[in-house]
Amino acid sequence: MRKFKTESKKLLDLMINSIYTNKEIFLRELISNASDAVDKLYFKSLTDKSAAVDKDDLCIRVNFDKGARTIIVSDDGIGMTKDELDKNLGTIAHSDSQNFKTENAEQQGGDVDIIGQFGVGFYSSFMVADHVRVVSRAFGSDEAYAWESDGVEGYTIEPAERETHGTDVILSIKEGSLEEDYDQFLTEEGLTYLITHYSNYVRYPIRMLVTKQRPKPKPVGAPEDAKTEWETYKGIETINSMVPIWKRKKSDVTAEEYNEFYKSDFHDYENPARTVSFHAEGALNYDALLFIPSRAPYDMYSREYQKGLALYSSNVLIMEKCEDLVPDYFNFVRGIVDSQDLTLNISRETLQQNSQLRAIARKVEKKIKSELDSMREDDREAYEAFFENFGRSLKYGIYASRGEKADVLADLLLFYSAKMNKMVTLREYVEDMLEGQDSILYHFGVGETKERLGKSPIVKAVLDKGYDVLLCNDPIDEFCLQLMGAYDEKPMKNVATEDLNLGSEDEKADAQAVEQDNADLFSTMQKALEGKVEKVVVSTRLVDEPACLTTTGGVSLGMERVLSAAEGYEGIKSARILEINPKHPVFEVLKDAQDLGQTDKVSLYAGLLYEQSLLIEGLSVEDPFEFAKAVVSLMV
Ligand code: ADP
Ligand code: MG
Repeated sequence: MRKFKTESKKLLDLMINSIYTNKEIFLRELISNASDAVDKLYFKSLTDKSAAVDKDDLCIRVNFDKGARTIIVSDDGIGMTKDELDKNLGTIAHSDSQNFKTENAEQQGGDVDIIGQFGVGFYSSFMVADHVRVVSRAFGSDEAYAWESDGVEGYTIEPAERETHGTDVILSIKEGSLEEDYDQFLTEEGLTYLITHYSNYVRYPIRMLVTKQRPKPKPVGAPEDAKTEWETYKGIETINSMVPIWKRKKSDVTAEEYNEFYKSDFHDYENPARTVSFHAEGALNYDALLFIPSRAPYDMYSREYQKGLALYSSNVLIMEKCEDLVPDYFNFVRGIVDSQDLTLNISRETLQQNSQLRAIARKVEKKIKSELDSMREDDREAYEAFFENFGRSLKYGIYASRGEKADVLADLLLFYSAKMNKMVTLREYVEDMLEGQDSILYHFGVGETKERLGKSPIVKAVLDKGYDVLLCNDPIDEFCLQLMGAYDEKPMKNVATEDLNLGSEDEKADAQAVEQDNADLFSTMQKALEGKVEKVVVSTRLVDEPACLTTTGGVSLGMERVLSAAEGYEGIKSARILEINPKHPVFEVLKDAQDLGQTDKVSLYAGLLYEQSLLIEGLSVEDPFEFAKAVVSLMV
């Protein structure tokens, strides 16, 4: 018996003791090796006349025998000599990369996906088999050899028989247990699934004997309309589809075909909103096929949701969800990237590969961005539907990058315009700004409807002056806008803040005069609201309403509401200001009460004005019982 090299043994141990749970990739690995072997023969045939092959004969065969518990993967490819069997299967082909994987796997407590993400090669057979026999005959040789191993200490190589060049890998499948179901691999359905799932786009046909149905020939003399009877029979079938849709010329593929592919591959029942396919050539060649879904999957905003694109290398699936290919803010994009320049094995140039992935990711991001731009321009209705589904990811992208990604994302955002009564872009808002308006105004009320937000006295006051206000009700909105800071150099401003600066100089002077003339009244109200508001002031904005609540400093009422629901931020409070409308009849009532020395009445009314302002802004009153009592006291 020949012994395995140390590092091979290490990897075998890992494999068998299964740090990696995705055992089913073994078939992908064997098929990819078979495909490589057929490739090699095919390339040889191009230069070597003696190796003439008929391209139509090239195929890979998969057989299984449930009784004998075997799976056989065969090819008539280049085959291996005795020495090659020893060299290729006795050691790990790419010992560098394998070492890397082994070490990393151990370091990370065996909980890594490295092995699963990239090729693990031939040894993955031992995840499902307790004995592997490889019978191979090299092209141009008339001797065949069998390599055999239990995947523990070593292997043997003996002379064997094989009619033609090529290789058969015969796996003796392990007995299953309650935890591990190996029997699933010993079925037609199981193998068909593995082939179509992982190796659908291998260039050569993968053939398997499967059960089929056909109409029975009608008995002689049977009546014309006799029911057709069906019978099952066994027949060889090509299981994989071979030519991937993304490799086909865009002009040859119908929208219908793309839609069907999307729905079946990404398990959606609706057609995608947009399909983007492109081919990149240069230092790195790849094809990409991307989809923007029409609706968010149910788990889109849950922690379990995983973004990513499927990554193929030379038609073989390497990773189902490669996260590095799409930024978080485009986490809704589904699709595929296929590059022949990425090798199936993680290979020596691990880092370089990552930079390759980054290059692809940059291009993918650009393509999605420009697709969304054109969708917004050409089909506003569809874009609004898109934004309804996925806008939050875009806003979150600005927030999470602390505004850095605004240059990519700001133009993709939509907000509800109180003046135009529709969703608008920031560009549209800015284009509609009044002479002299220096900031973008928004109102933030979490969870409120647009209608209710529009009725806020603060919003109405600003609208009355002719300014537009963006009505924001998504918890992320204000955080996104604040971190963006400005758009087109126009700062973002919450209309419910003190320093809105929309009043004229005259109005401000008038307000100050009123405050000075009624200093006693304001100090009574301030005392009554001690601990609740920072101050009580004369409003320069209110028209119809007696009072409203604004804030000063960085935390708005809306933010306070969002933060109070977030763990760890409960204590964060806004600094509130009660603004009183001096033109409202209530102000006269207050003044009279103060003049008559009825400070209890002033305090009671100040409390009520504060609390009704809270209610209008969708916040709850601090003490509903006190509030109710105060209202009743006015009636009796
Ligand atoms: P890799 O495919 O990445 O080189 P593997 O562990 O899958 O690594 O295979 C090791 C080597 O064994 C291959 O490089 C190849 O030379 C040889 N080999 C495996 N399967 C076959 C096959 N079916 N026909 C010919 N050679 C094979
Ligand atoms: Mg391989």
